[in-house]
Amino acid sequence: MGGCEMAEASGERYDSNNVFARILRGEIPSDRVYEDGECVAFRDIEPAAPTHILLIPRRAGPVSTVGLADEDAGWLGRLIVRAARIAAEQGLAERGYRLVLNTGRDAGQTVWHLHLHILGGVELGPFA
Ligand code: 5GP
Repeated sequence: MGGCEMAEASGERYDSNNVFARILRGEIPSDRVYEDGECVAFRDIEPAAPTHILLIPRRAGPVSTVGLADEDAGWLGRLIVRAARIAAEQGLAERGYRLVLNTGRDAGQTVWHLHLHILGGVELGPFA
């Protein structure tokens, strides 16, 4: 907590034992719906919507969008394109869905490995 979390939130430190890193290594089971050489998608363990998928890059870092650089545009852009494809494969394209990328404590980020939420299957409420 405290200083340690602040460092993580500002993108200074990547903990290779965070829960998503462990999911990537297969140390924690996950319900995978998609994977390729660059990213993995799996169902959220506490779904906030009928369809709630997490899409994560395989790369070890960044922990959040804080500190992203121009060089990150390629893989991050492809991550969003893949999220759209997964959403379509899950049948969400017609009615719509939400992509969420929580950054830092105020946004409720709890896992310090950058990740996209794909939420759909219900009419989603307005933002907080
Ligand atoms: P954040 O709040 O950081 O944006 O999102 C982290 C998400 O990871 C939460 O929605 C939480 O339910 C999910 N999560 C945390 N631990 C696990 C886990 O072990 N397995 C899966 N599938 N999801 C997890």
